[in-house]
Amino acid sequence: ADRRILTGEKIVVEIGNLKIGTNHPPVYIAGPCSVESKEQIMETALTLKEIGVDILRGGVFKPRTSPYAFQGLGVEGLEYLKEAGEAAGLPIVTELMDEGHMDIVAEYADIIQIGSRNMFNYSLLKTIGSLNKPILLKRGMCATIEEWIMAAEYIAVHGNKNIILCERGIRGYDNYTRNTLDLAAVPIMKKETGLPIIVDPSHGTGIRELVEPMSKAALACGADGLMIEVHPNPPCALSDGHQSLTFEEYRQLRRNK
Ligand code: PEP
Ligand code: MN
Repeated sequence: ADRRILTGEKIVVEIGNLKIGTNHPPVYIAGPCSVESKEQIMETALTLKEIGVDILRGGVFKPRTSPYAFQGLGVEGLEYLKEAGEAAGLPIVTELMDEGHMDIVAEYADIIQIGSRNMFNYSLLKTIGSLNKPILLKRGMCATIEEWIMAAEYIAVHGNKNIILCERGIRGYDNYTRNTLDLAAVPIMKKETGLPIIVDPSHGTGIRELVEPMSKAALACGADGLMIEVHPNPPCALSDGHQSLTFEEYRQLRRNK
């Protein structure tokens, strides 16, 4: 447990011309929780590009709490996401849920997201460690700092140090918010691992009105970027509508940064 590849020496992750990490401007990752249709993701990509965004997000393999909830469009969604990213000139990030989809996700996505539920999936972490592809490693919702560091080590020790950490809130006793956003983790993880770290205030709070204030707080404590859920029509979203910003709210957030 004492051996570490990630020593705290600063690592900058590059996606094309974009650089994520210490001494680089914060990156903005935005998009819907789920890719829902070709039109939805295309409209979102083009609008976000016009407002200002660096990377387009969209889930196609969705880790839903209920098996009866929308599970994502799968490979079809991956194609829509890719087309939208290309049309807007934006790199894309999407979640990989299982090893069986690794090759196709790696082929389409510029960054592979490992979700909160899979941070403890050591077999998946080992497998993606052998990829030459940036990884967005979200914090497990019940993961300690030490466990999160070790999850990153699993990826790094297999050869891949292109890791971006993402604080997305942890489970506490208070369910007023969906999760408790642990912003103290931001300077801690930067110091301990040297990796870039971004904050996801959407899942971190679960409440649309809290996304902007917690975005400001995240940048104030040194986050290297933000990941924000934005939807063309949040009340009709197939997942996470209550925490998704409208385009206008996202525009406001960018203006007030
Ligand atoms: C997501 O970003 O779409 C997501 C499912 O987040 P998390 O894994 O943090 O719950
Ligand atoms: Mn979501």
